[in-house]
Amino acid sequence: MTWRAADQQRYGRAMTTPTIEDFRGEVRSFFEEVLPSTLDGVHGTIPRAKAWRAALFDHGLAAIDYPVEHGGRGLGPEYLQVYRDESRGLVPREDATFGIGVGMAMPTIRDYADDDLKERFIVPGLRGEELWCQMYSEPGSGSDLASLSTRAVLDGDEWIVTGQKVWTSGAQHSQLAILLARTDPDAPKHRGITMFVLPVEQDGVTVRPLVQMTGEAEFNEIFIDEARIPKHWVVGEVNGGWTTAVALLAHERVNTGTASMGGSATQRSKAGRTPIPVAQLIELARACGRDGDPLVRQELARLYSGEKVVSWLGARQGMHPSIGKLWRTRQGRAAADLAARLAFPASPAWHPDLSVEANADADYFAYHILNCRGMSLGGGTDEIQRNTLGERALGLPREPGTDRDTPFRELLKN
Ligand SMILES: Cc1cc2nc3c(=O)[nH]c(=O)nc-3n(C[C@H](O)[C@H](O)[C@H](O)COP(=O)(O)OP(=O)(O)OC[C@H]3O[C@@H](n4cnc5c(N)ncnc54)[C@H](O)[C@@H]3O)c2cc1C
Repeated sequence: MTWRAADQQRYGRAMTTPTIEDFRGEVRSFFEEVLPSTLDGVHGTIPRAKAWRAALFDHGLAAIDYPVEHGGRGLGPEYLQVYRDESRGLVPREDATFGIGVGMAMPTIRDYADDDLKERFIVPGLRGEELWCQMYSEPGSGSDLASLSTRAVLDGDEWIVTGQKVWTSGAQHSQLAILLARTDPDAPKHRGITMFVLPVEQDGVTVRPLVQMTGEAEFNEIFIDEARIPKHWVVGEVNGGWTTAVALLAHERVNTGTASMGGSATQRSKAGRTPIPVAQLIELARACGRDGDPLVRQELARLYSGEKVVSWLGARQGMHPSIGKLWRTRQGRAAADLAARLAFPASPAWHPDLSVEANADADYFAYHILNCRGMSLGGGTDEIQRNTLGERALGLPREPGTDRDTPFRELLKN
């Protein structure tokens, strides 16, 4: 059954284009009426994330700009902006679970995969039924991603994959991965890579969580030993994976650069790469009795402006995604720095009992103070964003490179 038929049958969704004001009303009533009852009594990050996503999808708000045949509403960017405006600060923190699947994998599959793959993956992905991770980085390939050496060899109806990945966020909860693997070692490094969909839960894939200094295990190392992928689970062209890899990274930068900012004073999220909302810093300053301090007030005003700048940048069409990502990273570090000085004046290390006035929030702020450094790395480091901006936005000369035309097989490896 096509999505359009299934959609009509299961959800009875109106396929007409609403007016902007009707659509605004739809979004408001979803957040005011539907969401609270959906999440009532649901506990745990993954169950809450899935319940939220399913409700959002079933109410036609999960894929506003996607084509109708792939579960979307087929509406323009002005509707997306209404959703962003009306949902600011109201999206449950558990939505970060879908940063990779909904934010990065789905739009790449929508834009580059064949119809069979779109049919198989997009609706379950948007509805939150399947969780996704991103298997790009390897122990010897981070910024220089094109040097990756995990290999895939076609054997009859399957690709056989062997190699190692690292820093794979959320892999321990994922059923599917967007995987980059080398399929032609005789081609130069950018030209012999293919993007696959890898089923994570299989014998050939071992996922080992890595504990960070925050105390959480956000990401994992992955050992891949003759894992299997159906022959046609290729996103884009065989050996054309660099094009799709870059497209997915652009979604990642847009996502991490411009996703909903400026949460409420009360909603606490220890997930995702979001700066501490200024509303929470103001509360913290009050709790610490520092809200009258002119220097603190000045910093809060600066951070408030930063929060606005990031969200306005997000609303601009055609802006290079690296600009948003750099701004967000900068905002994240500055917000964490102020939180550290307000909540933990005595020590950069913490124990929940040591935080003075803001005791209840010690764990939360400590998490963000430690986590904000990672914002500069995930999705490409600040230096790489600046290189990208220099080369692609400003048209400066390319970074010198001697290995662009050398077959991968002949390159010196780490
Ligand atoms: C929170 C977090 C989540 C992540 N999630 C994922 C994930 O889900 N999937 C995934 O595949 N990866 C993930 N990563 C990995 C991330 O993409 C890499 O850490 C990042 O690309 C940098 O690679 P690297 O760590 O190997 O550092 P390197 O590439 O070894 O870089 C080391 C340093 O050298 C600098 N440098 C390198 N090359 C240049 C250059 N050409 N010009 C100037 N400076 C340069 C870098 O900026 C950096 O400071 C995640 C990382 C973090 C921190």
